[in-house]
Amino acid sequence: MNLTNPFLDDNGDKLREECGVFGVIGAKDASAMAALGLHSLQHRGQEAVGITSYDGDEFYSRRGLGHVAQVFGTDESLGELPGEMASGHVRYSTTGGSGLRNVQPLYADLASGGFSIAHNGNISNATALRRELVERGAIFQSTSDTEVIIHLVATSRYRTVLDRFVDALRLVEGAYSLICMTSEGMIACRDPLGIRPLVMGKIGDAIMFSSETVAFDVIGGELIRSIEPGELVQVDHKGKISSHRPFGNPSPRPCIFEHVYFSRPDSVMDGRSVYAVRKQIGAELAKESPAPADLVIPVPDSGVPAAIGYAQESGLPFELGIVRSHYVGRTFIQPSDGARHAGVKRKHNANRAIVEGRKIILIDDSIVRGTTSLKIIEMMRDAGAAEVHMRIASPPTGHSCFYGVDTPERSKLLAAKMEAEAMADFIKADSLAFVSIDGLYRAVGAAGRDNSCPQFCDACFTGDYPTRLTDLAERETPDLLSLPVDQVA
Ligand code: AMP
Repeated sequence: MNLTNPFLDDNGDKLREECGVFGVIGAKDASAMAALGLHSLQHRGQEAVGITSYDGDEFYSRRGLGHVAQVFGTDESLGELPGEMASGHVRYSTTGGSGLRNVQPLYADLASGGFSIAHNGNISNATALRRELVERGAIFQSTSDTEVIIHLVATSRYRTVLDRFVDALRLVEGAYSLICMTSEGMIACRDPLGIRPLVMGKIGDAIMFSSETVAFDVIGGELIRSIEPGELVQVDHKGKISSHRPFGNPSPRPCIFEHVYFSRPDSVMDGRSVYAVRKQIGAELAKESPAPADLVIPVPDSGVPAAIGYAQESGLPFELGIVRSHYVGRTFIQPSDGARHAGVKRKHNANRAIVEGRKIILIDDSIVRGTTSLKIIEMMRDAGAAEVHMRIASPPTGHSCFYGVDTPERSKLLAAKMEAEAMADFIKADSLAFVSIDGLYRAVGAAGRDNSCPQFCDACFTGDYPTRLTDLAERETPDLLSLPVDQVA
């Protein structure tokens, strides 16, 4: 493993990944529920999926590459996973992501018994921890950052699994929402800043944990509450729930990008409807950056709620000027730039009847490399649009995420290379505007960004990273974080 690069090992495996986690304890058909829950979290990861179950005696595991419906589409596949406790994981990794060995939940037989772990987030000192563990003799099975937690639990000097787990997490920095299983029950935990989401729900007497509330809706259960940042919730096989706060009470910094793009709009994130927030971002955008146009058109699907909010606030008609094929995967997931370009065209088509001869406002949630905007604007012009004004429902994405949302390295981010005016030229828009950071905060219910103590993690927009980034700081290459924008090639 190349220890100087925090994201790649010598096989080119990418350690960073986006994910969804789900767990249920006390349900007769726990693994079927887990499959259903994971199905509703499929947007958080489409590369691989796994479920581990426990029947009071033994742990069982099935993991595979592909979508939930492919890996758990048959009764036989779920029949391999008996028991009343199950947890699972959907994974989204990008270029060079390896095969089965990194697919979660990861499982190990420890001195204290079986231990499985499913992780959403990214550990920003995983490489440093791994190096120390390997020097002490640890033998890693995967290149996943999550595996360091297993080794830290295994080598902790504390007696109970819970104490060992807390001891391990004290050494870990970064973002983690975890669902673990031991023979004693389930442990769900959110990192001290609550960067990634995690919610608790119930169905009958069974308790569930999920990255998003949508999983509870789909199963027919109900939301109990969010797991608090830094909270660790333990549920035993009798249904006894205990809550622990081993990390004190640091000010929370949940990820604001979950509201912008990542979560499903029908989820409720830390008490707020994601859909309502997205509409409000659109309304803020309309107030801040009006444009002389006839129509508001969303880039589907991610731009739709913000476009509705923009249209309602501006009084302009909302029209579907782009139609999306639902039979193409995310364009973002395509490994090479060439494949990504082709993907954009297969995914979106202009609705000429709406666009021709009109001045349009196009709304998308974000610009990352600029590939999507460039292609879509070209498509709008080919369909006869008279003017194209691009409005983006997030501030410029000028910084990479090291907490589990996949963003390319900083040098590939359009906003790291140029200011908004140059970006407008690059994507060939008549005008381009982004919602301000305060506008975004207003949309999520704050008065604005409190710069002395920001209420969210917004590092992808501001470069203000709320944790140490040990692995990044150890890189041999220059620290791109500290370079001024114009020095980033
Ligand atoms: P790009 O074409 O590189 O500018 O990417 C922008 C498009 O990708 C937007 O339409 C977003 O909806 C989508 N997007 C933004 N961030 C992500 C992400 N982390 N994972 C997948 N898609 C994303």
